[in-house]
Amino acid sequence: MSTPPTAGGLSTAAAWRRDLHAHPEVGFTELRTASRIAGHLTDLGWRVIAGPDAMPPDQRLGVPSDAELDAAFHRAEAGGGDPRFLPLVRGGHTAVVATLGTGSPHVALRADIDALPIAETDDPAHPPVAGGFASRHPGVMHACGHDGHVGIAIELAERLTADPPPGRVTLVFQPAEEGGRGGAAVAASGLLDDVELLVALHLGLDLPTGVVQPSNDALLANSKLRATFRGRAAHASLDPQDGRNALLGAASATLALQGMTRVAGHATRVSVGRISGGTSSNIVPDTAEMLLEVRADDGDVNADLEARARAMLAGAAQMHGLEVDVELIGAVTTATADPAAVAAVAEAARAVALDVVDAAAGSSVASDDGTALMRRVQAHGGLATYIGLGSTLPSGHHTRAFDLDEAALPLGVDLLERLVRTFTA
Ligand SMILES: [Zn+2]
Ligand SMILES: [Zn+2]
Repeated sequence: MSTPPTAGGLSTAAAWRRDLHAHPEVGFTELRTASRIAGHLTDLGWRVIAGPDAMPPDQRLGVPSDAELDAAFHRAEAGGGDPRFLPLVRGGHTAVVATLGTGSPHVALRADIDALPIAETDDPAHPPVAGGFASRHPGVMHACGHDGHVGIAIELAERLTADPPPGRVTLVFQPAEEGGRGGAAVAASGLLDDVELLVALHLGLDLPTGVVQPSNDALLANSKLRATFRGRAAHASLDPQDGRNALLGAASATLALQGMTRVAGHATRVSVGRISGGTSSNIVPDTAEMLLEVRADDGDVNADLEARARAMLAGAAQMHGLEVDVELIGAVTTATADPAAVAAVAEAARAVALDVVDAAAGSSVASDDGTALMRRVQAHGGLATYIGLGSTLPSGHHTRAFDLDEAALPLGVDLLERLVRTFTA
């Protein structure tokens, strides 16, 4: 059940990466993924905490509907999920925290595990298609490299099991990174509060294979909102005056949001990504839904943008005689790497013959809620950094033709193993 998914001369990291690539699961539905990770690490002798104890349920944001979670459970049950852990992670409790050893030093590594709602290309030249490990789940794809993150962590676990370092190593398998929905919840578990060094690694990020960026402070904070406008239906021709047009509220809010005043000295973003509502041309729409987000390079600025967005949504509702509910469905904060952590990563990288690039180089302006884990560790006196591990990409993150360079996987295992052994020595 928890043996490496495929054989045939592949490394553990590549075998796991390919198996997960073929079976991608979006945030909080990573039931097959999480149960197999928990099972394998249990078999290796690690102490495994999975399910609600690894992620307080009420701290999660943007959890899918019960119907979606149920469907994911049945798919995982039929498709190779580990029956020892499936009941524990059922219902969207898909975090796994695994520890080897005891005491101090305590080093922790974060691997995010979720895929994206993107349909993978069927181009025969796309390596996952050519290699027979393209997504078997229509409309879902590992298009950010998180399958590779898990592969690296699993192979690292096997190496450390074979030759345990002194002290303690914890692997944090975090669900629902996409959309900023799982990181803060895992942090709230408290399981990382005595971690002395936390590293969150991401593959790609515009860096070529063989290169390591030992910190990336350019990550943006963000807030993602779902706004639901409610009005009153009426015949659009007989009694339009009796209607309260919810779609008009969403449309007015969209225009206002895109015109939000920007903040001097800060990188900011505003996006309305979806707007929907109504049923027919002759009925005044009584409901409308919007998905929107704001981002900023500073947590306080982001909070200010979110407050302004909420005011615009409320104003648009009032203007058209509507009610509006605004739900926070994702949130990411910023974090700053500790110089000592950056130096430790750079030293480990050089020791395994990787090229180290400056933190300012190739900074991709995205977001990652691993920052919540970093802040939690730092708040308790530990060190943390977010590192980019180069992987030459044929197509960018979050695109249909995204593909990892698997040559980067053993480099990631070597780097993290060296870092762990140096830090715990
Ligand atoms: Zn991503
Ligand atoms: Zn990612």
